[in-house]
Parts: sequence; C-alpha cells; structure tokens
Amino acid sequence: MEEDLTTDLVALQSHLETMLERIQRNSATLRKFQAFEIRLLKLNALPDIIDHLLEEAKNYFDLDAISLCLLDEAGEIAKTLNDSGYSCSSKNGLILLDTLKPAATQPYIGIYRNAQYADFFPHIERQPASVAITPLTRRDKFMGTLNLGSYQLDRFDDKMATDFIEHLSSVVGVCLENNLHVEEIRRVSYLDALTGVNNRRFFEQRIGEELKRSQRNAAPLSCQFFDIDFFKSINDKYGHQGGDLVLSLVATTIKHQLRDNDVFVRYGGEEFVALLSNTDEFEALETAERVRKAIQTLVIAVNDISVSVTVSIGISNYVPDTESIVIDSDAANLLIKAADSALYRAKHNGRNRVENGGIVANKRMLSNKV
Ligand code: GH3
Ligand code: MG
Ligand code: MG
Repeated sequence: MEEDLTTDLVALQSHLETMLERIQRNSATLRKFQAFEIRLLKLNALPDIIDHLLEEAKNYFDLDAISLCLLDEAGEIAKTLNDSGYSCSSKNGLILLDTLKPAATQPYIGIYRNAQYADFFPHIERQPASVAITPLTRRDKFMGTLNLGSYQLDRFDDKMATDFIEHLSSVVGVCLENNLHVEEIRRVSYLDALTGVNNRRFFEQRIGEELKRSQRNAAPLSCQFFDIDFFKSINDKYGHQGGDLVLSLVATTIKHQLRDNDVFVRYGGEEFVALLSNTDEFEALETAERVRKAIQTLVIAVNDISVSVTVSIGISNYVPDTESIVIDSDAANLLIKAADSALYRAKHNGRNRVENGGIVANKRMLSNKV
C-alpha cells in the first residue's frame, strides 16, 4: 500500500515537473514574442520594419527561413524603399508582387510543396520541410503574406494551434498598414497638386541630402531654375484654366528631359527647379538647352487654339571639396542664389535662353585659390 503511494507520488511529481517545464518554456516563448512585438511596434520606418521581420524573427522564433511578400501593384513600396536607400532584392527574403498570386491569398500550414511554395522562399538554398504561409490583411484588403519555414517536418503541421501565427500576422499587418499610410501621406505632402511633380517642400528637404551626397561621392551637383516667359499674358488671354493646362504640360515636358533620379519641383507660380546629381556645369548647360528647345517646340491646345510658350533658364553648379566632409551651411543658399541670378540675366538678355551662374564651392576651396 505504502509502496503504491510512493510510486504514485513519484509519477505525480514527474508529471508536475514536466508540466512546470512546459509552462516555463511557454512563458519564455511568450516573453520573446512580446519583446519582438514591442520592438516591431516601436519602429516607424518601412525598411526598419522589414529588416526586423526578416533578420530578427528567425532568431526570436527559432525559424530556418522567413520571407515577406508585399503586394505592390503601383510600385509605390519599391519607390519608397528605393528613396530611403533600401536595396530591394529578394535575397534577404523580401518579395514585391506586382500582381496578386492566388496561392498567396490562402493561409497554409503543413508540408512544404515545391510547386506551390518555391516562389515564397527564393532566397534560401535548402528547401524547408514544413511551412506556414499567412496572408496579411487589413480591413479586407490583402497586403501580402508572412512566410515561415522550418527544416523540421513537424514544426508546422495542420493540427498545430495557429493562434500564435495569427497573432503575429495581425501585428505585422497593423504595423505595415500604419507605415504604408504614413509613407503615402508623406509622398502626397511632397507633391504639387496641379502639375503632379514634387513641390518646394520636397526640394528643401532634398537639397541638403544632395549636397551631402555630392560631397561623399566627390561629384558635382547642378541646379537649374526655370521660369515661363510672359506667363501672365497666357492667363490674360486664355484664362486661369488655360494657364493651368500650360503649367502642367510645361512641367511634364521638363521632367521628361531629366533623369528619373533628378530632383525636379514646382518651386512656386510658374517657376520650376531641378537638381542634377553627378552633373558638371557643361552637362547642366547642355540639358538646359535641350529643355529650352523642347518647350519652344511644344504646341498646347487650349480651347482649340494652339498655344506656344518659352522658358528662361539659369544654372549653377556645386563642386565638392574632396578634402573636407563639411558642407558650408550656406552652400544651398549660394547654389539657389547663383541659379536665380542667372535666370534673372536670361530674362534681362531677351528670355527663351540659358545663362550660367557659375560654380559655387566651399569657402575653404575658394580661399585656397586666392
Ligand atoms: P516673365 O517673362 O518676366 O517671367 O513674365 P511673367 O508674366 O511670366 O511673370 P509674372 O511674375 O509677371 O507672372 C507670373 C504669373 O503666374 C502671375 C500669376 O498669376 C501666374 N500664376 C502663378 N501661379 C499660377 C497658377 O497656379 N495657375 C495659373 N494659371 N497662373 C499662375
Ligand atoms: Mg516668375
Ligand atoms: Mg515668368
């Protein structure tokens, strides 16, 4: 009798120990999960969120593979990531989808099937044995999928409790949605509503960055100021709406003559500014001349009347000081002022022409020359 009790007690004790161990393991997993989640919620830039998911989640959750598919039909996510210098390659597990893939819209937990799921893990050499493919949706809108993979066959099986994965994908969904909204608001706040090109706020934010880049790469930076000639008379003759149409088409025509990564903005009224990276004053003059000719040959139909306009252009050029990483605090002002003065000269000398405002350099370089 006593022996029986002792055996029962030992069995009970062992059972309790196993349970305790499981509770401890579960609460450790929960703590890890909370730490991961708090970190994720604190991040407020899309590249940081993506990096946290792709680089940290593997360690936090002991996964062999993780990837993130994001639906990016208009290419806006790619552009946002590009603008912030994030290299968009599927090497790190980020996959941008330009169209919706049917396999991505269905949640799946179970054995890895190459035919269906190879596209979700293009960045790893060894195939996972089991996977969890979780669609990310917010307000019924499909945003992408979070894909987890393991080399263990029983890590993700269709009988497992899915609340952890569902919770993770909801948190990731909320973070991504918030961030994409913020990016969208930021993008729109940098756009000029009439012409669709960027606005002066964007220019003011970018000129400092472009000067730094010029300094870093020891490459010249050019500035071009454009002003439509006698624009007031366009408004007078064809009304404000006619003027608006001319403004839009002039903006689009100039933009087409520039490179995609050049900064080009409506500075105000009928004035536009461009910043051309890695461009010396001769190349800037050449581009300006090309723009001038393109505008001169442009025929705009305003109320069935063919309207032509011309632009005057002033350019200036920043030459970095390769021996210093410091940029003069007034370099931006000097560059703008030089282009603006050149524009004034172009107006004064007869309009529909390009004038060169010359080179703006760090004060140290100029004093070295003397
Ligand atoms: P100049 O050759 O010396 O540059 O002469 P201009 O007539 O182009 O210059 P001015 O500065 O006298 O006139 C600019 C005009 O641009 C006046 C303003 O009414 C017009 N304007 C500014 N913003 C807008 C806009 O958004 N839409 C329209 N339609 N006109 C605008
Ligand atoms: Mg003007
Ligand atoms: Mg004008």
